[in-house]
Amino acid sequence: MAYGDLVSRVDFNMKRDSPFSYACHACNRCCRNKAIRVSPYEILRLARYLGISTTQFIANHTEAGGTVLRTNENGDCGFLGERGCSVHPDRPLACRIYPLARWVSPDGEESFGHLTPHPHTAGIYGTSGTVQDYLDHQQLAPFFEMSERYGKLYQAMVDLLEKLDPDELDRRPERRAAIDELPAGTLASMWVDIDLTIAHANMNSRDQHVSVEEAINIHIQSIEVWIQSAASNL
Ligand code: SF4
Repeated sequence: MAYGDLVSRVDFNMKRDSPFSYACHACNRCCRNKAIRVSPYEILRLARYLGISTTQFIANHTEAGGTVLRTNENGDCGFLGERGCSVHPDRPLACRIYPLARWVSPDGEESFGHLTPHPHTAGIYGTSGTVQDYLDHQQLAPFFEMSERYGKLYQAMVDLLEKLDPDELDRRPERRAAIDELPAGTLASMWVDIDLTIAHANMNSRDQHVSVEEAINIHIQSIEVWIQSAASNL
């Protein structure tokens, strides 16, 4: 089941101060039969953890145009090993926040809800802490910050698209479905491939020890320049 399907049935009835606790007992059932979506920031962190470029990571470990982690034939996440998650320190947002989901409304109001647990999960749900405690424990703050930065960039791209070709917006569901059908290993665009973008700026981010934060800044600025340039030519 895709993450989007899971989220669509969540009751977002919690705030950061709501009572919540969850103790993972490493049954790894949440790492099976899921579509784990990844952002450019998450791809960069995972690629750096594995010591490869984002271009290599997208080709070897993702599908759907670089937006979803590749799974094995049995449905297990490609990073699920005998001892659990093999990329645990840099696991994506969806894995950290599980078993919660987060929703931010268009006017910026944030809420949280419970995802439906696996029927045989070994995880223990409780109320000994708060949602905020759980977010802190899972080190989610930088992931939320990056979601907001890339969300603004995405909106700027959508606004540009609307000016370029208003009819294109009506075709978005079709385009989204087409991306999901891309074969594994299909090379993705500059939107998700940060090292490719940085290479176009005549830098090698790994050789020059560009930090994750610097690489993100270069990536976002490059796309902003591209958007401004395209908009000025309208
Ligand atoms: S990245 Fe790690 S935590 Fe996330 S689904 Fe894969 S194995 Fe599980």
